[in-house]
Order: sequence, then structure tokens, then C-alpha cells
Amino acid sequence: MTRAFDTYNTPEWREARDTFIAEQGGVCEMCGHKEGDVVTVVDIKGHVKNIVIKLNPHHKEKIKLGIGARNKLITKLFNAFSKNKILWERLKDLAVGELGDYVDSRDIRARMKTLWYDNNKQLVDKEYQKYKQAASEQYLILTPATAYVTCQRCHYAREKGLLLCKKCGLYYHKPKYRQCYRCGGM
Ligand SMILES: [Zn+2]
Ligand SMILES: [Zn+2]
Repeated sequence: MTRAFDTYNTPEWREARDTFIAEQGGVCEMCGHKEGDVVTVVDIKGHVKNIVIKLNPHHKEKIKLGIGARNKLITKLFNAFSKNKILWERLKDLAVGELGDYVDSRDIRARMKTLWYDNNKQLVDKEYQKYKQAASEQYLILTPATAYVTCQRCHYAREKGLLLCKKCGLYYHKPKYRQCYRCGGM
């Protein structure tokens, strides 16, 4: 996976990462393993796998980049533009003129947004660069309030909403069960 953050994998990031992991005790918050530990697991098919634990900080609130973030920014800028009543009405007339009378207000607004965007691509690009810069800087800020440390296994499980089994401390289960499938589930 490539990361969109300019700061990812830079010396600054690695330093922030190492410092934060050390501050958090150098262990995964969920399973307690430290970097380099080898965990032996058996997958569903019965294959034994040795996994070398790798720790990483993760932001509690995801800092987003890419199309989604850019679209959100477009909406924000477009909403700000709507405050200018004169220009707004002018754009509306333009959109209605194109679409005719048999459309609803949502179609009109969508067309207005497209027209606005076509004329403001440069502004959007400029604002997005600013947003990206700020997000990249924010990405480097790791504190107990903003981030946590987990290994790759626990991170994946956490993303899927799973819990670490309290009995074996090795496998994961859905919150509705008390323990993992291997430990008897339920
Ligand atoms: Zn873990
Ligand atoms: Zn278990």
C-alpha cells in the first residue's frame, strides 16, 4: 500500500514513530507483544505460521487524504460560495437554464456544483495542497490522546471490530462471543 502522506516513512516519521512506541512501553496495546516477537498461529486450514511482530502507531481519528477528502473540501468551498447571494442566484439561473424546468432542487444544486467546480479547479487544487500539507504535519503528531500502538495482527483485528481472546491471548473473536473459536467460542 502506498501512503499519500508526504511525511510517511521520512526520518521525521520514523523518529516520531519510534519515540511514541517507546513512550507507550514498546508493546502492542492489545496483545502486549513487542517488536520482533515471533507469534506462532494456526490458520483455519491448519497451517502453522510464524509471524514476526511489527508495531506501529495508529491515529485514533483517521486523517484522510485522496478523492474522499478532496470531495469534502469541494463541498466545503462550494457551501462557502453559496453565502454570496448574488453570485449564487446567477449560477442557479445558469443551471436552471441548462436543465430546464423538469428537475428538482437537488438536480439543480448538483449541476451548480459541477459548474462551480469547472470554474474553480485551481482554487480547489490550491486549497487541497494546503489541506494536504496540514494533514501531513498532523500525521507526525503522536500523543496518547491522538494515537495508539498495536501490532499488525491486532491492528487488522481492531479495524474489523474484533477483540483479542482473553483465554489464549492469541486469536480474535467478535464482541458477541466470550472467547475465540479455538477456545470454545460462546
Ligand atoms: Zn497485538
Ligand atoms: Zn482463544
